[in-house]
Amino acid sequence: MNLADSEEMAAHLLARGYVPTENLEEADLALINTCTIRDHAEHKALSFLGRLRKWKRENPSRIIIFAGCAAQRLGNRLKKTFPYLDLVSGAKEIDRFAELLDHSGLFSTNPAEPNPATQSVTGYVTIMRGCNFACSYCIVPSVRGPVHCLPSQQILRQAAQKAAEGYPEIVLLGQTVNAWQEEGKTFADLLNEVSALPGVERVRFVSPHPAFITPQFLAAVENNPKIARHIHLPVQSGSTKVLQEMKRGYSRETLLEKLDALKERGFAISTDIIVGFPTETPQDFEQTLSLVERVHFSAAYCFKYSPRQGTPAAQMQLHTEKTLEERLDILLNKVKGLAESAYRVQIGKPVQILMESPNKGRTSDNFWAKTKKSYPVGSMVNSIVEDVDDTLLLTRD
Ligand code: SAH
Ligand code: SF4
Repeated sequence: MNLADSEEMAAHLLARGYVPTENLEEADLALINTCTIRDHAEHKALSFLGRLRKWKRENPSRIIIFAGCAAQRLGNRLKKTFPYLDLVSGAKEIDRFAELLDHSGLFSTNPAEPNPATQSVTGYVTIMRGCNFACSYCIVPSVRGPVHCLPSQQILRQAAQKAAEGYPEIVLLGQTVNAWQEEGKTFADLLNEVSALPGVERVRFVSPHPAFITPQFLAAVENNPKIARHIHLPVQSGSTKVLQEMKRGYSRETLLEKLDALKERGFAISTDIIVGFPTETPQDFEQTLSLVERVHFSAAYCFKYSPRQGTPAAQMQLHTEKTLEERLDILLNKVKGLAESAYRVQIGKPVQILMESPNKGRTSDNFWAKTKKSYPVGSMVNSIVEDVDDTLLLTRD
């Protein structure tokens, strides 16, 4: 989502004559798009901003924009600590970013048509913003606000445009992306409509919430081969008690039913897990480990619990850093072993690879694969997995 938001903001800067650079020294402007999901993410953004003090001093005409969720959370306080900051643009203001640039007086008010210049096979389309859940650890609802679903007409227009620009893979984005709905239309309908657009070869979506993995959704994905056979479904914990305290709205049992249903339909499943939620006992943690083993996730992003100001869980007694580290370490080791075996079991299987470079691409179930021959970027290659090199499938063709 941040990637898509960065692209959107960058497009408005390109329209005002800027071109992207990897080299800060030659840049006239720095746009920092921030995350505040954990304290660590926010801290990284702020320390980068701190380092830009010298950069700005070297040439005061340089412009610094601080955007995204940390910008939303910290707001005008930022300008007090970092007086050299030119513009703060919170996550809720993304739709008004162009207006904000115009009102700042820092840019030409006669921009060209925004036209993002990314070079990849993937086009991102935001279909909803915000979140209506209230997970007890999570800051997203307060920095991104309640759910706002974008109209299907706009989504389909954007996806069609991306496909026409040469992005055969469309990724639909939202905080609880599968909660998207519109009068008379569900997320499953939208998936089918996007995948039927000319030039769309593959559709992905991120991040879905387990609550909206419905029979209707399962039926849609089952009958539509263009929907990638991979889902990133954050589970957070394997303990019903912790899930309840996290206010996730599902139990271990209902979660497992849904995960099994997805696996039966050939889905590789990756996930997010939080270790060391304040009430997590060693037994709860064991439950998470056993869930991970049972489900065989193809990948898992594991996070140490980070208290976020204003969330209910921030009031609870924290685990020590040592406990957090220990649990994270154990989980990471387990996850790594399982991910390796998820790659190994692919040997002998047919795969369809969307090429992202002449010799490398991703399979429908989101594994990286390396081909023997070279193919055009953006083409779909059918082959068989012959071998595995760490986390890379090696194919026959
Ligand atoms: N909307 C998605 C998650 C978005 S946040 C969902 O509900 O599934 C991305 C991930 O950050 C979460 O899945 C969670 O694992 C992690 N996260 C969120 N808040 C956190 C916190 N306070 N401490 C540690 N990890 C957190
Ligand atoms: Fe945060 Fe929960 Fe909403 Fe995901 S569903 S963004 S974890 S509040």
